[in-house]
Amino acid sequence: MEFELSEEQQQMKMSVREFAQSEIAPHVSEWDETQHFPIELQPKLAELGLLGVLFPEQYGGSGLGYVEYVTVIEELSRVDGSVGISVAAHTSLCSNHIFQFGSESQKQKYLVPLASGNHLGAWGLTEPSAGSDASGTRTTAVKQNGGWLVNGSKNFITHAIHADTCVAFASSDRSKRSKGITGFIFEKGMKGFSPSKKENKLGLRASETASVVFEDCQVPDENRLGDEGMGFVNAMEILDGGRISIAALAVGIAQGAYESALRYSAERQQFGKPIQEFQAIQFKLADMAMQIDAARLLMYRAAAMKDAGRKTTKESSMAKLFASEVSVRVCEEAVQIHGGYGYTKDYPAEKYWRDSKLCTIGEGTSEIQRMIIAREILKHP
Ligand SMILES: Cc1cc2nc3c(=O)[nH]c(=O)nc-3n(C[C@H](O)[C@H](O)[C@H](O)COP(=O)(O)OP(=O)(O)OC[C@H]3O[C@@H](n4cnc5c(N)ncnc54)[C@H](O)[C@@H]3O)c2cc1C
Repeated sequence: MEFELSEEQQQMKMSVREFAQSEIAPHVSEWDETQHFPIELQPKLAELGLLGVLFPEQYGGSGLGYVEYVTVIEELSRVDGSVGISVAAHTSLCSNHIFQFGSESQKQKYLVPLASGNHLGAWGLTEPSAGSDASGTRTTAVKQNGGWLVNGSKNFITHAIHADTCVAFASSDRSKRSKGITGFIFEKGMKGFSPSKKENKLGLRASETASVVFEDCQVPDENRLGDEGMGFVNAMEILDGGRISIAALAVGIAQGAYESALRYSAERQQFGKPIQEFQAIQFKLADMAMQIDAARLLMYRAAAMKDAGRKTTKESSMAKLFASEVSVRVCEEAVQIHGGYGYTKDYPAEKYWRDSKLCTIGEGTSEIQRMIIAREILKHP
C-alpha cells in the first residue's frame, strides 16, 4: 500500500498549484463578485493539458489517470472551486461519456477537440422536475426521418451557454422509465438547441450554470451516444467517476479554507498573543487537518481503484459524501477562526464556505449518496 504520490505526480501537483496561484488567484474575488465565467482561461488550461487529463494521447488527452485527475481538480479548487467544477464537468462528465460510450467516429469528431481543450463540454442530465430522480426525464426523443426530434429542457447545466458540445439525455420510450432513456450529442448552434436562464448562485459564482432548451431539435442518429435505451444506465456509470472529482473539489476547497485559517490564526492577536496559541483554536485546526486528510484518502482510494479498472460505485459515493460534508464543516470553522473578519469579503473564508455547499448537492445530494452506499452494502454484505 502506497500513500505517497510519485515524483512525477508530485511535480504535476506543484505545477498546477503554481498555475492556479499566478493565473487564477489574482482574479478570484472579482470573478466571484461579477459572476464572470473565465472563458479566457480555456487556452491556458488546454496548453497545460488540464482539459484532457483522463484521455489517451491518441484522442488529444494527456494519457494520465484518475489519481492525476483528482490531484488537478484539488489544486485548482484550492484556489477557486469555480474553475475546479468547470474542469470537472468538462472532463469526467461530458468528455468521459463520449470516451466511454461513443463510437470511434464520435470520439474523433467530438472527443479530440474536447480533450485537447479546443472545445468546452457540458453534460445535461438534470431537469426541472427530474433532479435526484433522473429516471423521471421528461425531455423526449422521437424517431423521425432516420434521426430524432428532441423536445424539452435541462437545468443547472455547467457550461450551458459556452459549451461547444453538450451530452444530454432524453426519453425515447416513457413506458420503460430509466430503460427508455437515450444519450445524444448536441452541438452549439444546432437548430432548436439553445441556452437559457443563467442561475444567480450562492457560491461557485464564476462557474456557469444555466438551462438548455430543445425545441423541435433534429438530431441525426449518428449523434446518438451509446445504445438506444442505455442513456440512464451509462450516465450512472459516468457519475461513479464524476463523484470522485466532486470529492476532489470538496477537498481542494477545504484545503484552501484551512490554509487561510491557519495563516490568519498566526497573524491575529488577542489577549496579547496570536489566537493560534489558544487551545480552542488549535483543536479546531487539528480537527480540520485530520478531516481533510481522511477525505483525501477516500478520494485517492476511489481514484486508484478506478485506475485499476475496478467498479467504484460505493467508494466514489463514500469519497464524495464524506469529503463534501467535511468541506462544509471545515469552511465553517475557517470563518469562525477569522471571527468578524471571516464574515466579510476582505478575507477568502466566506467564499470558501459558500462554494463548499455545492459539493453536498451536485452529482447527487448527500441523501442520495447515503442511499447508494446503503444499497451497495446490502447487495454485497
Ligand atoms: C452549481 C450546480 C451545478 C450543476 N451542474 C450540473 C451539470 O453540469 N449537469 C447536470 O445534469 N446537473 C447539474 N446540477 C444539478 C444537480 O446534480 C442537482 O441539483 C442535484 O442532483 C439535486 O437535484 P435537485 O436540485 O432537483 O434536488 P431534488 O432532487 O429536488 O432534491 C431536493 C431534496 O430532496 C432530497 N431527496 C430527493 N429524493 C430523495 C429520496 N429518495 N430520499 C431522501 N431525500 C431525497 C434531496 O437530497 C434534497 O435534499 C448542478 C447543480 C448545481 C447547483
